[in-house]
Amino acid sequence: MIGTGILKGMAVTARNLVGSYFDKERLITVQYPEERNPLPENYRNFPFLLYDGDDPHAGLRCVACKICEKECPPQCIYIVKSEDKKPDYMGKPQFYPKVFDIDISVCMSCQICVEVCPFEAIKMDKDFELSTRERFDALLMRKDDLAKSNEYYRRISPIDAAEVDAKLGAAAEAAAKKKAAAPAAAKPVTAATPPASNEPAPSRAPS
Ligand code: SF4
Ligand code: SF4
Repeated sequence: MIGTGILKGMAVTARNLVGSYFDKERLITVQYPEERNPLPENYRNFPFLLYDGDDPHAGLRCVACKICEKECPPQCIYIVKSEDKKPDYMGKPQFYPKVFDIDISVCMSCQICVEVCPFEAIKMDKDFELSTRERFDALLMRKDDLAKSNEYYRRISPIDAAEVDAKLGAAAEAAAKKKAAAPAAAKPVTAATPPASNEPAPSRAPS
C-alpha cells in the first residue's frame, strides 16, 4: 500500500520520542558545543608536529629533512631548515625547522606527510574547530601553532601513540645495546680493521 513506509517511519519516530522520556539511551541528540561525542581513534583532520618533554623547541622531533614537504600532494608545507643544530630533549644535536608552515586552507588531510616521515615527527590532529572569518593568514599554521606534546598525542590517539612509543623505545634500547657492545668489539687488534658502519642512528625513546 502506498505510504506504508512513511507510516512505519513515523511509528519509529513516535516510539523513540515517547521512549526518550523513560530511557536516556534513546536521547541521541547531542547538545553541541556543551556536549560532544568522543571522536574515533582513526579520525583525522590536519597535521601537527610532535615534541617530547616540556619544551616545544628542544623536544621537537622534526629534523627538517623536508621529505613531507616534497611528498605533500597540494604542496601546502613550507620548511626552512636551520643552519645550526640544537640539542634535542635527550641532548643529541640535530637540525630543526627554522620555519615550518602548513596552509590548512589547502591541506586535504590525506596523511601522506605522516606516512613518509621517518622520525614519527608529524601526526594527524583531531581538532576540527578551526573556522575563521579570514581565509589567508588565519589558516596558515606556523611552527608554534603546530607543535604539540607527545602527551597530547597520547590523549587523542592512545592506540597509535602507544605503538609509536613502543617502537621508539625499542629503537633506543637497541641503540644503547649497540653502543655498549661497540668498545668490546673494538678491543681485539687485528690486521684488517672492518669498515665503519654507515647505518643512521636509531631514533630516541619518547618522553
Ligand atoms: S595531510 Fe596531505 S595535504 Fe595535508 S599537509 Fe599532509 S601531505 Fe599535505
Ligand atoms: S616532519 Fe618528518 S618528514 Fe617532515 S621535515 Fe620533519 S622530520 Fe622530515
